[in-house]
Amino acid sequence: MNIGIVGLGLIGGSMAWDLRSLGFQVLGVSMREQTCQKAIAKGIVDDASMSLSLMATADVIFICTPIGAIASTVEQLVPHLSSAAIVTDVGSVKAPVVQALSELWPNFVGGHPMAGTAESGIDAAVRDLFVDRPYVITPTPTTPQLAVEKVEEIARSLRARIYRCRPEDHDRAVAWISHLPVMVSASLIAACTSEFDPDIVRLAQQLASSGFCDTSRVGGGNPELGVMMAKYNQKELLRSLNSYREHLDRLINSIECQDWQTLQQNLEQTQQARGNFEF
Ligand code: NAP
Repeated sequence: MNIGIVGLGLIGGSMAWDLRSLGFQVLGVSMREQTCQKAIAKGIVDDASMSLSLMATADVIFICTPIGAIASTVEQLVPHLSSAAIVTDVGSVKAPVVQALSELWPNFVGGHPMAGTAESGIDAAVRDLFVDRPYVITPTPTTPQLAVEKVEEIARSLRARIYRCRPEDHDRAVAWISHLPVMVSASLIAACTSEFDPDIVRLAQQLASSGFCDTSRVGGGNPELGVMMAKYNQKELLRSLNSYREHLDRLINSIECQDWQTLQQNLEQTQQARGNFEF
């Protein structure tokens, strides 16, 4: 089977690398010639080009460009596709992408591998990025079943954990566990660095240890991704941010009122609830 990867960055490059190691013929398309050359030289793909015509012999094509470029890329890709080709994407937001792409190519399946690092571009591509990570498939009532099964089979070969849900449910769920944490973590970094005394800021930076490292990680990632999450998942992100603000206000209120009992109860509840997240 020939696999096509459009967008040879962190996700596309990592996926291409693993699929090639598994014996698939992997063809890559990226925006810059330098990226295509690098992908070939590192053995990430069998062949690469800046032209989407390379996708003519691909059976399953993964669109791994930034979210903002997914729909226009598929629009340009369609004239090159064989009639049986399956198109899927890896975008972090699903409802608007699935709606746009289903109209462009009926044999389309939305997907989202929930894995990443703070890096981007082909140099950030790594092996085994998707092992034991969730890979969400978001079919609609009109998505061809065979295409869903084929994409799931490929995702399973990456040793990812497969989940299926509606695009809208995906967007609401990832707002809570992916998009909200980025905004909370970014606010944490901004609040810490807003301390007016530069000596205290410097001291805090020197004393920062594992707790701050964990809680600031996603707020210190690729800014473009954060903007894309907000832009394409605006409604669900705002819903989760407003709820977060309410919970923060409750904590502030308990502390101002020296209501240590309520604070204790809240922290006991969150300690227990954290155990239900399957990371
Ligand atoms: P990335 O590292 O920046 O890779 C995207 C690559 O796409 C760029 O390096 C660029 O390659 C290429 N590209 C950009 N526009 C293109 C176009 N019009 N046609 C062909 N290639 C194009 O970004 P990423 O983190 O891999 O994210 C890619 C997708 O994965 C996004 O849709 C994102 O929502 C999703 N995603 C990201 C993560 C994460 O944590 N990073 C996790 C899951 C899903 P050159 O310019 O070098 O050629």
